[in-house]
Amino acid sequence: AKDALTQTVCFYEVSMDEAARSRRLIANDLWQAVERKELQLHYQVQKAVTSGETIGYEVLLRWHHPLRGKIPPGDFIPIAEECGAILPIGEWVLREACREAATWNNDHKIAVNLSPIQLGNADVADLVHRVLLETGLNPRRLELEITESTIIADKERALQTLRRIKAFGVTIAIDDFGTGYSSLETLRAFPFDKIKLDRSFMSEVEASPEAKAIIRAILALGQTLRVPVLAEGVETSNQLAILLDEGCDEAQGYFLGRPMPVESIRTSVEASKAA
Ligand code: C2E
Ligand code: CA
Ligand code: CA
Ligand code: CA
Repeated sequence: AKDALTQTVCFYEVSMDEAARSRRLIANDLWQAVERKELQLHYQVQKAVTSGETIGYEVLLRWHHPLRGKIPPGDFIPIAEECGAILPIGEWVLREACREAATWNNDHKIAVNLSPIQLGNADVADLVHRVLLETGLNPRRLELEITESTIIADKERALQTLRRIKAFGVTIAIDDFGTGYSSLETLRAFPFDKIKLDRSFMSEVEASPEAKAIIRAILALGQTLRVPVLAEGVETSNQLAILLDEGCDEAQGYFLGRPMPVESIRTSVEASKAA
């Protein structure tokens, strides 16, 4: 029994070592990923529930590692945040997304995720300003998605930075609302333009009356605050029908469109112009 225990402990330590080693290797490679052009952006459509019109696209980062293949953002963004590589990576994402959107012949918005580390960095408002000038994108077409946890870290500073960014005309969405660090106080204190309802509510809405009640409450909150609500993770026509019924403003999810490489987006933009 003692041997078995020792073995278990050793195995555990080895696998912890492996995990730490793997994180270090990934961190190393992350610093070079931008230069080596291994990063790519995918675009996922966001639509108005009632009219079905396209409002814009959320930009989602993809990494094609030369040896490890595709690494999902959930696996590498926490490492990028930990090692600081999120700053050059986040800058690349912002510039690339704004440059792309500036070439579109429409007023679709581009929604870019902003990491807490970026928001905690004093220069992010300057960066946004610079990128808007460089790309010529109308600031009203840029939306930044931030999670509430982002704000908690250094409230005053985050608030100042957000105010500066909003003064350019850029809008701010709260991401993953209803989970984690959610607080009504945050909603009150911060200048948000949109609430993104976390996708966990959508996945439960059909089976759970509680999930539906919470969605209703958040929609009412949005109405009171005069802030539109976007439901994430809409995967079925029935879920979309429920949102229509409940008066939800906007939706995003596999049912409306998967995240796609930029070529597909350009094609659908052309197609809707021709129609
Ligand atoms: P998020 O901001 O909440 O992005 C939405 C995630 O839900 C995306 O995962 C998207 O592919 C996925 N999704 C969209 N529709 C559906 C659906 O109908 N069903 C299900 N099950 N999933 C859906 P993805 O692309 O793996 O990104 C994961 C997270 O990584 C994002 O969550 C975001 O927090 C982070 N992330 C992605 N790109 C960036 C980036 O450029 N910068 C930063 N800082 N974070 C990013
Ligand atoms: Ca997001
Ligand atoms: Ca989200
Ligand atoms: Ca998320």
